[in-house]
Amino acid sequence: MTDSRNSSRPPADAEARRAIAPVICYPNDGLPKPDLELYQAAREGAQKTGEVLVPARDARCFEVPAGHFFRITSVEGPQVGDLNLWNLNALSERFYSGKTRALHGTHITTGERMWSSFPHVRPMATITADTLGWYGIDEFGGSVHDVIGTRCDPYTGNLLSGSQYHHCCHSNLTRALADHLGISLAEAEPAVHDVLNVFMCTGFTRDTGQYFMKASPVRPGDHIEFFAEIDLLGNLSACPGGDCSSEHSSDTAACYPLLVETFSPAEGELAGWSSPARNGYDRTHGR
Ligand SMILES: [Zn+2]
Repeated sequence: MTDSRNSSRPPADAEARRAIAPVICYPNDGLPKPDLELYQAAREGAQKTGEVLVPARDARCFEVPAGHFFRITSVEGPQVGDLNLWNLNALSERFYSGKTRALHGTHITTGERMWSSFPHVRPMATITADTLGWYGIDEFGGSVHDVIGTRCDPYTGNLLSGSQYHHCCHSNLTRALADHLGISLAEAEPAVHDVLNVFMCTGFTRDTGQYFMKASPVRPGDHIEFFAEIDLLGNLSACPGGDCSSEHSSDTAACYPLLVETFSPAEGELAGWSSPARNGYDRTHGR
C-alpha cells in the first residue's frame, strides 16, 4: 500500500521526468488543407447579401449558405463575441471547440477551421481573414480568438456568488436561438454549446494553470472573416464582459454591439470546391 501522506513526494528522478520534451498530439500537416487562394479570390468579387447588428449584452442568429462568407466586425468600441455554429439543416451537428483546440491549438486564425461534432467531424467554417492575426502570443501566453474558454453562463455565476444574472452569453445565445427557430427556451438551451471566443484575449497562467483573460486588443473596424464550408446557422453574443478587461456576468463593463455581414461570391468563382462530406469513419465501433 502506498502511504497516501507521501504519495505526492517527488521521486528521485523527478527532474529527469519533467525534462522530457513534449510531442505534438495531432501533427496537423495531415489535415485536408483549405484552398485559401481560391477562397480569397472568390471573396474579392463577392456581393454583400445581408447584415445583423448584435446588440450589446444580447445575441442574434444569422444564416450562411455553404460557399458564402460571413464577417464579424467590432463597431463603436472594443467588444468580444461568443460564437455558436450549427449545420443549418440539422442542429445535432454543431461546433466542437475541444476538437478544434486539439487540432489547431488554443487560439485560431487565418487558414484554420471550426470543426463539427461527432460523428460528422468535418470543417464547418474556414477563417479567411483576421485583422488581429498580427497579435501572436504575448508575454503572458495570451492570444486572440480562443477555443479554450467555454461561454459565460449564469450557472457558474450562481455557484460562485449565488447570482441570478440573465445576460451571460449562454442565456443570450439561448434566447436568440429560441426566437430564430420559434422554439421554447427549454428546447433551445441544450443546443447551445461551447464557443469560439471571437476577439477575446486569453491564456493559461504558467504558475497556476488558471484560465485568464485580459483587455482585448480589438478596435472598431477590426474583423474576422469566415468561409462557410456547409450551410450554417450562426449565433453571436456580444459578451456582457465587453472587452473582458475586468469581469463578466454583470452590467458594469462597457459593452458595444458587433456587426455580422454575409457575402455571396460571384457565379463560378469557386470552381473545384465542394462542401466537405461527413467524416469517413464507418461507425461500426469494432462490432
Ligand atoms: Zn460571454
